[in-house]
Amino acid sequence: MSNIAPLLERNRSFAKSGAWRNTPLLPFLPFKGLYVITCVDPRTDPADFLGLDFGDAIVARTVGGRVTDAVIQDLSYIAYLVEAKAPEGPYFEAAVIHHTDCGSRLLEDPELRHGFAERTGYDEQMLASLPATVPADTVRADVAKLSAAPQLSPRITVSGHVYDTATGLLATVAEPSERSAGR
Ligand SMILES: [Zn+2]
Repeated sequence: MSNIAPLLERNRSFAKSGAWRNTPLLPFLPFKGLYVITCVDPRTDPADFLGLDFGDAIVARTVGGRVTDAVIQDLSYIAYLVEAKAPEGPYFEAAVIHHTDCGSRLLEDPELRHGFAERTGYDEQMLASLPATVPADTVRADVAKLSAAPQLSPRITVSGHVYDTATGLLATVAEPSERSAGR
């Protein structure tokens, strides 16, 4: 018995609802013009805390909501699709969201970090840079990283936010700004 099996009933209800018929067209422009990057933590699903409905946003999730090379590659691809297939736009906003009480902070423990590096071969220094220790700071750093990424269309705006797991509230720490960098 798989863990997903008990949820198949919910899938049938979803299929019956017909919500999936309301689908944005390729190149994929989500209804709310948003590409959300947030943590894998099950408490930080933007469908919950932003009330996203079907097709509202593209959502990428990484440990800590950190902007990795893979995140930049995917985001650049979607941005390029818009550039190539619908250059008139509308373009979208990439919203980076980090949160309080993040499990990425467990990597602050040198012993745990060393063990993970030993177990996997990942670079220990790189792992040391992952924890969202002060989420307002790490989110600003990731907004700056995205803003400076030459792969990403300069027409994509980038914003940064912190989600508070103790209150359910989202606070903006970096307003969306047009990017001069890139291309
Ligand atoms: Zn987290």
